Amino acid sequence: MASAADGFIPYSRQEISEEDIAAVGALLRSDFLTQGPAGPAFEAAFAERHGVGHAIAVSNATAALHIGCLALGIGPGSRVWTSPNSFVSSANCAVFCGATVDFVDIDPITRNMGVDALAAKLETAEKRGTLPDLLIPVDFAGLPCDLAEMRALADRYGFAILEDASHATGAAYRDEPVGSRHADATVFSFHAVKIVTTGEGGMIVTQDAALAERLRLLRSHGVTRDETAMKRAPTPENGLGAWYYEMTELGWNYRLTDLQAALGLSQLGRMDEWRARREALADRYDALLGEGPLRLPVRRADRVSAWHLYAVELADEARAGRAEVFAALRAAGIGVNVHYIPIHTQPFYRQRGFRSEDFPKAVAYYERALSLPLFPALTEAQQDRVARVLLDLVA
Ligand SMILES: *Cc1c(COP(=O)(O)O)cnc(C)c1O
Repeated sequence: MASAADGFIPYSRQEISEEDIAAVGALLRSDFLTQGPAGPAFEAAFAERHGVGHAIAVSNATAALHIGCLALGIGPGSRVWTSPNSFVSSANCAVFCGATVDFVDIDPITRNMGVDALAAKLETAEKRGTLPDLLIPVDFAGLPCDLAEMRALADRYGFAILEDASHATGAAYRDEPVGSRHADATVFSFHAVKIVTTGEGGMIVTQDAALAERLRLLRSHGVTRDETAMKRAPTPENGLGAWYYEMTELGWNYRLTDLQAALGLSQLGRMDEWRARREALADRYDALLGEGPLRLPVRRADRVSAWHLYAVELADEARAGRAEVFAALRAAGIGVNVHYIPIHTQPFYRQRGFRSEDFPKAVAYYERALSLPLFPALTEAQQDRVARVLLDLVA
């Protein structure tokens, strides 16, 4: 595979320091590779940084979305709405629970779920008696959604919000960290291409203590060792002892290992520095590409993007089409990518009755979209090269 050593510029790359390596090394010499103290330490630090009462670490964000749906009461017969401009997990998690999935088209400026489209769809759904039970908005590219408006609609129509902030670790909305308000629970991803990494990994946060308890149970087989939560707690009379545990509901093994938690905790300390670097690189892309036939990512004064992605759209005046530009950039050693093929156009969702034209804005965005390399170690010289090769192709 092409790597940075051959001059290839990937679209994303993890940052691993000597401190990260030392932290994982120390963990390997400790007593617990999983279910030891590193997991709760990572959870506590993450919760503190995101201004939230409870953080539950899991094996990946898809698992977090799954138990998030379950803990918010989603099951067979439930209705869940999400954005078509996301990774398939944002919809699949509802299917895991036997729920019905639908989508709300995007706002082409922010590329997030459109609140106007959401309000209109809710009005129709109310008349038909088909209101959703859960909304899964996605903070695309790291830019927080219109969370306050979504919360107001959730309160009016009576649905819950599970925010997919897989791109938005460290982002802020109206001066508060993403995850601290508005959503009932918020999910983050620590996949290697994301902002902070544990290889694979995820986190789900909430301000609701009862919801957090439920999430912990679902993460670990539905098994509890908490006597206050047991049907039959051990007593001298019933002959039960300290070995005793109860499975009170059906759960999964979605735990994060302590190896991963040690890496995550070590990474967390550099998250804000990385976000600032990503933003500086985004500003530089804006300056380098501003004159080209491209639509650049939008900024919003009331929110701070985590800048997971820098995605451009080729304008009508671009000299070459997206497929051609993509292939030429890859041939030039520039690891562009496309985010996202709209979920409803995937064969699995087509079989469930969706047609491409159902969410035309997500499709129109997809057909022109290109994610450029963006990661903290990207150099200005590399960035200049990306901009030059791209502009030579389109302008
Ligand atoms: C990466 C991602 C996921 C899935 O994350 P995993 O940790 O790989 O399971 C879900 N939603 C979005 C928007 C993502 O980008």
